[in-house]
Amino acid sequence: SLQCGIVGLPNVGKSTLFNAISTGKAEAANYPFCTIEPNVGVVTVPDERLEVLTGLVKPQKVLPTIIEFVDIAGLVKGASQGAGLGNKFLANIREVDAIVHVIRCFEDENVVHVEGRVDPVFDKEIIDIELQLKDLESVNKKIQKVEKAVRTGDAKAKAELQILQDYKAALEAGRSARTLAYTKEERESAIGDLQLLTVKPVLYVANVNEESMLSGNEYSEKLREAVKDENAEVVVLCAAIESQIAEIEDPEEHEMFLTEYGLKEAGLDRLIRASYSLLDLITYFTAGVKEVRAWTIRRGWKAPQAAGVIHSDFEKGFIRAEVIKIPDYQQYKTEAGVKEVGKMAVEGKEYVVQDGDVMHFRFNV
Ligand code: GDP
Repeated sequence: SLQCGIVGLPNVGKSTLFNAISTGKAEAANYPFCTIEPNVGVVTVPDERLEVLTGLVKPQKVLPTIIEFVDIAGLVKGASQGAGLGNKFLANIREVDAIVHVIRCFEDENVVHVEGRVDPVFDKEIIDIELQLKDLESVNKKIQKVEKAVRTGDAKAKAELQILQDYKAALEAGRSARTLAYTKEERESAIGDLQLLTVKPVLYVANVNEESMLSGNEYSEKLREAVKDENAEVVVLCAAIESQIAEIEDPEEHEMFLTEYGLKEAGLDRLIRASYSLLDLITYFTAGVKEVRAWTIRRGWKAPQAAGVIHSDFEKGFIRAEVIKIPDYQQYKTEAGVKEVGKMAVEGKEYVVQDGDVMHFRFNV
């Protein structure tokens, strides 16, 4: 499954957040193919629609989808020059699909701030700059290569060079690669092989104190203001409280704890869902009495490819898909009921699966 890397300066609350994530860990037995390493936390993605289906179908087993979080500790100022665990840290970021950037928005005189003061915008920039410097290195290397090709009269190389120089200028100006508005094709040709760090999608976690958990505070507001042009989400939570919430196994007690703090849901659940959509993932469901299950696909996938997530035979032998929308399922209660009123769609190979579809695949073996 896809991975989000948790990054941030030291002492901002990364481990605390990661511990909360790992405590609420998914039943590993149900997901035998995930990597279980100490710095990887596998969590289930909370989804109300799964509860709706479970209520209707009353299956023996319910399986939510999962995503993975990787704790990437060790980034300090100068990492791009090899300071701290610099290069190892940056290599770890290269492997993840998206970045969760944790930012300290709490004051606490007992917790040393590496820069001596709480300043979320400055902190964010320290990390950004390290990643941008590393990317600049990669882009510069590629520019040298492409320039050689241009000298031999390669027309394609000329176009590539233009794009690369744009990336270089942006990175030098302190902008991340993700902010450049090139098409997917242009990006692929020019920087696709570079695995740039700042091209990965990002969301910010504003780690606030308990008393600011519901409303945020001046720090989280400053952060929001600073990233508003990045089109990136800011999730406000208190990591220390989240790790307490995650410890509570009993669902009723869990509910009581949330109510006591005035929370509608755990901040961790908000973070998990935000990360899921950051990865551009959507969910479809299969619903049978044995098992109701959520499946993860990329937005835009067609029915056969989506079926392939369940089993490669489903994709190879795909004939058609029967699709029910959840509101119809709710209204007519059973698959047969939905079918009777003609609300079950029969779709072919070209159908683009929509978020929340309940799918039944027909296939040849
Ligand atoms: P990391 O270095 O980013 O992994 O940070 P840690 O998770 O180890 O946290 C550093 C210190 O900050 C620890 O003493 C935590 O208990 C404390 N801490 C983490 N989150 C919060 C928070 O939301 N509020 C307060 N006051 N302290 C926190």
